[in-house]
Amino acid sequence: MKKNILIVDDDFDTRFILKRILENEGHSISLAQNEAETFDILFNMPIHLILLDLKLGNSCGFEICKKIKNNMNLSSIPIISISVSQLEEDMIKAIEYGFVDFIGKPFNNKILITKIASIIRMKEEEEQLRKSRKDLIRLNRYTAIQKELLSQEAEFSRDLNQFLDAESKKEFIREKFSNFVGAKLFTIFSIDESKREFKLFVSNHEDMPPNLIVPVDKDSIMYEVLRTKNHIFLKDFSKSRHKKSGRKKYTSNVVCTVPLMSGHRTIGVLNVNNPDFSDVESFDFEGRIVRTSRHLAVSLHNTILFEKVRDLSMRDSMTGLYNFRHFLETLRQEIASAERYEEPLSCIMLDIDNFKSVNDNYGHHVGDLVLKELARSVSISVRSADIPARYGGDEFCIVLPKTDKTLALKLAQRLMKLFSGKEIRIPDNSRRVKVTISIGIAAFPEDTRNMEELMKMADEALYQAKSAGKNRIVDYVK
Ligand code: GH3
Ligand code: MG
Repeated sequence: MKKNILIVDDDFDTRFILKRILENEGHSISLAQNEAETFDILFNMPIHLILLDLKLGNSCGFEICKKIKNNMNLSSIPIISISVSQLEEDMIKAIEYGFVDFIGKPFNNKILITKIASIIRMKEEEEQLRKSRKDLIRLNRYTAIQKELLSQEAEFSRDLNQFLDAESKKEFIREKFSNFVGAKLFTIFSIDESKREFKLFVSNHEDMPPNLIVPVDKDSIMYEVLRTKNHIFLKDFSKSRHKKSGRKKYTSNVVCTVPLMSGHRTIGVLNVNNPDFSDVESFDFEGRIVRTSRHLAVSLHNTILFEKVRDLSMRDSMTGLYNFRHFLETLRQEIASAERYEEPLSCIMLDIDNFKSVNDNYGHHVGDLVLKELARSVSISVRSADIPARYGGDEFCIVLPKTDKTLALKLAQRLMKLFSGKEIRIPDNSRRVKVTISIGIAAFPEDTRNMEELMKMADEALYQAKSAGKNRIVDYVK
C-alpha cells in the first residue's frame, strides 16, 4: 500500500538513491536535508515513515528523533536510522532514542525494501489494534449505558404495575413519567372501541382539563398513529403536515407520538414533547419512549379491565344503576364532604306504586321492563353530580350533593312529571302499562346530620307518601 515516506539526509546521492528505490515500490517520497526542513514537512503533511540519517551536518539525527518522539502529534511515526556507522553503541543508543530499526550504508536494496515493508505492516497492525481497542471501549461504555437504561425501565414498569386502579396509576405516572423519559410534557389518551374520540387518561399539562375528550381528527398526528399502528418521531413538528391540527400551546418542535397496543388493538396513544436535552439522539430519547410505551400499554390495559370489573361490581346488573352497597359508600363520602364544606345534601327515596300488580297482571318480564324504564327516567332526570342507585326490588334512591330540600323537591317533581303515569309499551304486544311512583325526601343538615337517620327519614317520608294515597312527593317533616 502506498505510503508517504520522508527521507532526511544531507547527502544528495543517498536521498536520490533512496527516493528512486522507494518510488519504485509505489511510495510517495518527501525529502529533507536538515532539522528545519524535516519539521516543516512533518507539520504540513501526513507522514507514515521516516528514514533519518544519524549524521546530518550541524544537526544530530538522535536529537531530531528525540524531538519527534516528544511531540504528541508525531510520536507514533516509525523512524528508521540510516548510518554508515555499524557501532554497537550507536545501535543501542538508536533503540534508546526510539528508532525502530537501522539500515546501514551502502544499501542492500532487498534488505531495505523488506525492512520498510515489514515496518509498514507492523505499523498498520498496530493501528488496527488501537482502533479495535477504542471500539471495544466504546462498545463497553454503550453496553453499560444500555444496561443501566434497561434496568431503569424494568424498575419503572415494576413500580407502575404496583397499582391497578386508575387513580393511583395516574398519580404515579404524573409524578414519575416526565422525569423518567426526560421530557417536560406528556399526555396519555385512551381510545374506545368506536375509535371516535380520545379520552385523556393522564397528563402533566397544568392547564389541561382532566376529563378532556378530543374528537378523532383525520389530520392529527394521533389519528395517523392510530391508523398505521406505528409511532411517529419528529425533530421539527413545525415542518410537519400535522402542524395545522396540533394545538399550538401543547406542541413543541420535538414530538414523539406512540400507539399503545394491546395485542393488535390500539387502546391509547402516548404523546411526549419538549425533551430535557437538545441532543435527543445520543440520549436515545425515541428508543426509550417506544420501549416505555409497551409497559404503559400493558398497564393501561390492566387498569381499563380492572376499572370495568370494579364498575360492574358497583352496578345493578338489570338497570345499570349503582347498587345499594355503592350507594351507601357514596352517601358516606358525600356526607363527609358536605360536613367539611358546610354544604347541603339531599336524599331521595322512590318506589313504584302497586308494582306487585304489574307482575301479577303482565308477568315478571314486563315488571323488569318497567324497572328498566324507571332507571332510564331517573338517569336522564338527575344532574351529572347526582348519584342514582337501585335500593332493591322496586325502590330507588338518589344522593343529591350540594342540594337543599327546595331544590331536591324541584328535581323530584321533574322526575314525577317524566315518569309517573307514563305509558310503557310492551314489546310484541299492543297493550301498554301505566305506573306511578311515590317519592320521599330528607335533607342534610336541615333534617339531620346523621347518615343512617337521613336514610330513615327519606324512607319515612316515602311511607307517608304511600299512606297518603301514593303517586306523590313528601318531604320529611318532624
Ligand atoms: P307499594 O305501592 O306499597 O310499593 O306496593 P307494591 O305492589 O309496589 O309492593 P312492594 O313495593 O312491597 O313490592 C315490590 C315487588 O316488586 C315485590 C317483588 O315481587 C317485585 N320485585 C322485586 N324485584 C323485582 C325484579 O327484579 N323484577 C320484577 N319483575 N319484580 C320485582
Ligand atoms: Mg312498590
